[in-house]
Amino acid sequence: MPLSGSCACGAVTFSLAGGAGPVRACHCTACRKQSGHFWAASQAAKADLIIAGTEYVRWFRASPQARRGFCELCGSTLFFEKPGSERISFSAGALDGETGLSLAAHIFVAEKGDYYDITGDVPCFDGFDAAARERGEE
Ligand SMILES: [Zn+2]
Ligand SMILES: [Zn+2]
Repeated sequence: MPLSGSCACGAVTFSLAGGAGPVRACHCTACRKQSGHFWAASQAAKADLIIAGTEYVRWFRASPQARRGFCELCGSTLFFEKPGSERISFSAGALDGETGLSLAAHIFVAEKGDYYDITGDVPCFDGFDAAARERGEE
């Protein structure tokens, strides 16, 4: 089954024509502000991500290097992309049904909030997962 997802109100839906990368939980300040906690996201080739309801996607220029897409009607955090990159990240929480994905890393834990602890066996990285960067999943 190809992966598909949607925002909370359903105005924006997306589906994947290809495979998805592992889920990473990003604890950076920007992801925590945008998501309300930390942001769990998978990634895909931009060419494989088909978005419907693009007229409801608003893009927030989070930094010179990145922009974040959200539904303008319900506020759901949906996408993260670096213009010029061939990859795009999307919210794991927006996926519908069984995903077959699993959490592979906690990243930017150096910026995590002090109100929670990260427990379990999933590897933690102070910044980006260097191995993932080498695989071009950034
Ligand atoms: Zn929505
Ligand atoms: Zn982040």
